[in-house]
Amino acid sequence: MNLAPPALDQLDMNGKRVLVRVDFNVPIDDDGTIRDDTRIRRAVPTIQKILEAGGRPILMSHLGRPKGEVVETMRLAPVATRLGELLGTEVLALSESTGEAVASAIQGAKAGSVVLLENVRFHAGETKGDPELSRAFASLGDVFVNDAFGSSHRDHCSVSGVARLLPSAAGLLLQAELEAFQRVLLDPKRPLVAILGGAKVADKLTVIDNLLDKVDKLIVGGGMAYTFLKAMGHSVGTSLVQDDQVDLVKQAMSKAKDKGVELLLPVDHECGAEFSKDTERVTTDGADIPDGLMGLDVGPKSRALFVEAAHSAATLVWNGPMGVFEWPAFQAGTEEVGRSVASCGGYTVVGGGDSVAAIGQFSLSAEIDHVSTGGGASLELLEGRDLPGVSALTESK
Ligand code: AMP
Repeated sequence: MNLAPPALDQLDMNGKRVLVRVDFNVPIDDDGTIRDDTRIRRAVPTIQKILEAGGRPILMSHLGRPKGEVVETMRLAPVATRLGELLGTEVLALSESTGEAVASAIQGAKAGSVVLLENVRFHAGETKGDPELSRAFASLGDVFVNDAFGSSHRDHCSVSGVARLLPSAAGLLLQAELEAFQRVLLDPKRPLVAILGGAKVADKLTVIDNLLDKVDKLIVGGGMAYTFLKAMGHSVGTSLVQDDQVDLVKQAMSKAKDKGVELLLPVDHECGAEFSKDTERVTTDGADIPDGLMGLDVGPKSRALFVEAAHSAATLVWNGPMGVFEWPAFQAGTEEVGRSVASCGGYTVVGGGDSVAAIGQFSLSAEIDHVSTGGGASLELLEGRDLPGVSALTESK
């Protein structure tokens, strides 16, 4: 796996136009209010480092899914205002991302200022990796920095296309993300424990298959656990089960056995009669779920089992909630597992989407060694796949 692209300090940036792909895909209300500026904050160290090295940062990002058209509510101007406040320097927001006017605005920008190009996905070619668009972006910079971990699994013009055309390096955020996954996937301190959850097992089977080659213990919770339990012959009531995945799950279970991986599944459940926030919670005694009930969280014995396994880890990676944690009655599994990750003495990484939302909900982020900014990208790393946006940095001039 390619997890060590050229680093930022290897790039000569003095006096140069430094094109930087950042991930400013933040939630913005219609009145321009940014609801969560985490992604903007996480890009600040790289921008500051470029300024310190005498470079002229020219930032590019996508925002939302404008599908190749100009969508007024998806302009990046509100981000420029927030970024300016965080940096304490002027951020010039341009209303386009390619062309003569953009090139001359960059030329005319004051030394020490930062330029933010318009939403790159206003161009239809961006998500198709159109070579002409990649060249148009590349013509605006002398060197390129990718700091958008959350977009690095995309083979898009502003991510990998430009990287192949200019001398390139990873920004500080991207580098920190890759180092964290390197510590988990390439040379982990043992025991290595992975906790996987989330709704559907089909989305995570490649991750399971790859992790079975690496981990000492694998904990499976959430909706995906019921397909495992069904494959083992347990009754699962009306729980979320993917019948077409049962054979693949059986193969994964036999791989775990062959590899000597301890596979931990729920041994009891918190159930409800309906998929509803207000459904009455029923705790099962064992792993079987009676007819008419669906598993919506792992039960108390499972939580104790999972917490103990998490605490045994020297390296721990967690992806996916243990239950429908959005509903208070079914959040205990995710909360207790989250707390066990936070209090684990080993090196801890939380990757992606819902588990990151969960640790935010339970205010645990500060106690975790690495909280990933990229859901899709972190899943692809856990699947053992190279990210196009990272490989392209190594392939660059
Ligand atoms: P994913 O996007 O696959 O990581 O799944 C995350 C979603 O899985 C969350 O919104 C959870 O509410 C949901 N989830 C977790 N456990 C269950 C369950 N037992 N039944 C249904 N949905 C679940």
